[in-house]
Amino acid sequence: MVLGNYKQCVSARATDRSILARAQDGGIVTQLFAFALDEGIIDGAIVAGQGEQPWQPEPIVATTKQELFAAQGTRYNICPNMALLKEATRSYGLDKVGVVGTPCQMQAVRKAQLYPVGMRYVGDKIALAVGIFCMENFPYQGFEAMTEDFCNVKLESAAKMDIGKGKYSVYTERGAVSQMPLKHTLKFVQPGCHVCLDYVANLADVSTGSVGSPDGWSTVFVRTKNGDDIWAKAMAAGCFETKPIEEVKPGLELVTKLATDKITKNQKHVDERATFGVRADGSGKALRSYL
Ligand code: FAD
Ligand code: SF4
Repeated sequence: MVLGNYKQCVSARATDRSILARAQDGGIVTQLFAFALDEGIIDGAIVAGQGEQPWQPEPIVATTKQELFAAQGTRYNICPNMALLKEATRSYGLDKVGVVGTPCQMQAVRKAQLYPVGMRYVGDKIALAVGIFCMENFPYQGFEAMTEDFCNVKLESAAKMDIGKGKYSVYTERGAVSQMPLKHTLKFVQPGCHVCLDYVANLADVSTGSVGSPDGWSTVFVRTKNGDDIWAKAMAAGCFETKPIEEVKPGLELVTKLATDKITKNQKHVDERATFGVRADGSGKALRSYL
């Protein structure tokens, strides 16, 4: 099952126009957290705030809707949201934590719940884990080179970045768009992404991305019982406009294709690494066979 388990999949967008205006896609992440905050389902969420450099994300614990809104949009470089998980419950004293992250970060959330080494009393405080689809991510310097050297746009004057239709696109504040083919971004991808086998955040409560849905809309997988309960409440409160995924183009066919492509491509890297002694599971088994 390349798309993981899910209870329902829809194409959706936020009904709050101010959230939608600042969103990367359909504003699903921010609308869901804002609703959960209003309803007391979470008392804060770990999101990607503004770091020291332009477009460099830094994890923050957002406890107000203003902080959630300020963190909207995608920053295509690494944001270690998991580093704040324990802090959110200890220093910030949250009992119900929301967290957004890439598929690998959703794996870390579940690992913290199942094997709470160094994470005691944290797991049961994670109230809503929202995953975002992810094909690859970049270290800050690589992301800077892609934007400034290849797309010829200074990071300070960029208004939005997007990956889709085989291109990395940078939109400027003056409305221009500059693009580079995705194949040229490959050398900047962080090495760990080459052995990653999850595209659609299989372990999240709710996961979302643009692929599969029309521009300005998001594809949403509602995966767990917890996710389903929260999604149902948000729908009842009128937070989202939805369409059956079967009725939109390009639909699940493209999501399935990209998820399959990622697994096929990266499984080769996993297998290659095993032959030179590094196993993706870290057991060192292949290395020992040489001794
Ligand atoms: P918004 O309301 O705009 O909120 C986005 C949320 O994501 C905010 O809470 C923000 O703080 C958080 N965020 C921003 N940057 C990061 C980051 N670097 N790490 C963790 N959290 C972050 N979607 C696809 O369909 N296909 C892809 O191949 C794909 N690749 C992606 C690669 C990366 C590195 C990232 C970060 C995202 C990728 N996405 C991809 C997801 C997509 O870009 C949107 O983030 C997603 O659709 C949510 O949009 P939204 O309008 O619902 O959220
Ligand atoms: Fe994490 Fe995988 Fe995305 Fe890389 S490709 S950031 S390892 S989810």
